[in-house]
Amino acid sequence: MAREIWIDEEECISCELCVNNLPAVFRLAINGKAECYDPAGASEERIESDAINVCPASCIHWK
Ligand code: SF4
Repeated sequence: MAREIWIDEEECISCELCVNNLPAVFRLAINGKAECYDPAGASEERIESDAINVCPASCIHWK
């Protein structure tokens, strides 16, 4: 089972980097903030390298 991801919406600046890098995992919610709709959409390694480690607001975390 894929590890769950938590995004601190207060910190998200809606830059869409995570969405562009991993569109099978992240999308922008109706409030303009990123949300993880499918944590199984990419490997944990790619989620770390292409989202968690590069998010400019450092607001994507494993639960
Ligand atoms: S990369 Fe970070 S700041 Fe940018 S949209 Fe994703 S969660 Fe928000």
